[in-house]
Amino acid sequence: MQFNRIALAALTMMIAGPACAQDGEMADVEIRTEQLAPGVAVLFGRGGNIGVSYGEDGTVLIDDQFAPLTGRIQSAIAGLGADPVRFLINTHWHGDHTGGNENFGEAGAVIMAHENVRVRMAANGRDGRVVPQAALPVVTYHDGVKLHLNGDTVHAIHLHNGHTDGDSVIWWENANVAHMGDLYFNRISLPYIDRDSGGSAQGMAAAIDRVLAITDDETRIIPGHGPMATRADLIGYRNMLLTINEQVQAAIDAGNSLEEIQAMNIAAPYEVEGGFISAEQYIGFVHDSLTDPNAMAHDHADHGPDHDDGDDHH
Ligand SMILES: [Zn+2]
Ligand SMILES: [Zn+2]
Repeated sequence: MQFNRIALAALTMMIAGPACAQDGEMADVEIRTEQLAPGVAVLFGRGGNIGVSYGEDGTVLIDDQFAPLTGRIQSAIAGLGADPVRFLINTHWHGDHTGGNENFGEAGAVIMAHENVRVRMAANGRDGRVVPQAALPVVTYHDGVKLHLNGDTVHAIHLHNGHTDGDSVIWWENANVAHMGDLYFNRISLPYIDRDSGGSAQGMAAAIDRVLAITDDETRIIPGHGPMATRADLIGYRNMLLTINEQVQAAIDAGNSLEEIQAMNIAAPYEVEGGFISAEQYIGFVHDSLTDPNAMAHDHADHGPDHDDGDDHH
């Protein structure tokens, strides 16, 4: 796969997190708050967008960006009139979504995530060191979990092998808000499928279909990166994913090599200027996924029991 060097640097920073983003480089970052519903807000800063549920039963944070930003994130939470974080849910293991885990864990938050988030964080380390215990999820789940608080039911729903093999979408049932994690970038780049972490193009499209099935035209969609979106935006994104998957599959079936398929400009119409994933890279992710017979089978080691939500395999 040919990586454009600037895109690779951006990607490395997204994944590795604070390794190349020390406190000084974060000095200019401001945390901007947008209220979505009573007791629900989104925080924009640097790294993955943060969801907040708050009210009389305590504060739930969805993702936590980078460690140097924790103080500013805590100030933004206090600015909402919310208590310090009681539960923290990671949508996946990447450093731009879990960089603040150690700080929030030490401050008393119970960290929750899909079981592969804990496995990958522990196995990969961060900044060349072992991830401290306080940064790891304490509560892990296989299919999903529901939090019953603040007058709402907040669902963490695991979706298989999309951006990674540990993705969760967070859905506020009553407030009608969905946090997509990095299954969805809105208007800032072609998608990133982390094949080394069990992501796949098939899983990504299936994950979006799953979210479309539980949302409606009023749902506020928080993308992993980029500005707030509507369900119509998400439908457009799903159509893009399917169109590219189908065209790449047809080109594979016709006997074309990866290089030949990359030369067909299948993803070029969807490329975003300045985006960190190029059309060529994205076709590489899709081709690699579609030619991997185990692309959708990486996170089903223990075949746990099926439940009424959180599992879509049959
Ligand atoms: Zn991210
Ligand atoms: Zn990510």
